[in-house]
Amino acid sequence: MPSYPLRALVLRKTKLGEADLIVTLLAADGRQVRAVAKGARKTKSRFGARVEPFAVADLLLHTGRSLEVIAEAETVASHEALRSDYERMAAAGVVVDLLDKISVEGQGEPQLFEMSNVTLGVMESAAIATLPLLVAAFLLKALAMHGYRPSLDQCASCADDTCDSTLFSPRTGGCLCDGCSPQDPAALRMSPDARAVMRALLRSRMADIEALGVDDALRSEVVRLVVAYTGYHVPARLKALDMYAKGM
Ligand SMILES: [Zn+2]
Repeated sequence: MPSYPLRALVLRKTKLGEADLIVTLLAADGRQVRAVAKGARKTKSRFGARVEPFAVADLLLHTGRSLEVIAEAETVASHEALRSDYERMAAAGVVVDLLDKISVEGQGEPQLFEMSNVTLGVMESAAIATLPLLVAAFLLKALAMHGYRPSLDQCASCADDTCDSTLFSPRTGGCLCDGCSPQDPAALRMSPDARAVMRALLRSRMADIEALGVDDALRSEVVRLVVAYTGYHVPARLKALDMYAKGM
C-alpha cells in the first residue's frame, strides 16, 4: 500500500465497527481528509489522545480503497487544555464544527489550517471572558478565507464608501447604506462600536484580540451579528455554534 506523511488537525471522530474510528481531518494544505484509526477505541490503543478532536498530529497514512488508514500518529500540539474545561471545549467545538462543514476533499485553503491551529492555541490560555470574541474572530476570518469577507467599510450593495448606516445585512454581505436599506428588510441593527470591533477582529492577530478590551454588552452584540452572518453563508447546520450562541 502506498503511504505518505500528513500534518493535520483532528476535527471529528465517529465510531466504526467494534473498535475503530473514522477521523475527519483538516490537512495542513486546507483539504479535508477522512481516515480510519484501527483499534483506536481499545483502552490500550497505540493512538491514545493523538486522534482526539482539537489535536494536531503528524500522521503516516496508507492509501485505502475508500478511506485512508492511519498507520502512525505523533502529536504536534495536543491542545489538551481545550478538552478539560467546558467553556474552552465549547468554543473550540465551534472551530472544528465550522472547519468540518466548510472544508472539502481535494480542494485546499492553505491559510485555513494555520489560522485554525493558532486560534486553538490561543483558546487554551485566554481569559474565559475573551473566548466569545475569539470565536467571532475565527468565524469572520474563516469566512473571509472562504470568499465571504463581510463588507464593513463600504455599503455591501452599492459600494458607497461613506456608508455610515447602522444596518448590517448578512444576505447582502455587510453594512448597508441608507439608500440601499430597503433591499433587505431583515437587516440587523449594528452600533458603530460593533462595526469597529468586527473590523478589528478581521485585522488583528488572534493573540492580540484579548487586548482589544471589549465590554460585555458590545461583545454580545458582535457575537450575535457574526453568528447571523455565519448562519446565512454556511448552508450546513452548525450544531456547535447554535449551542454556543444559546449558552451566551
Ligand atoms: Zn448602498
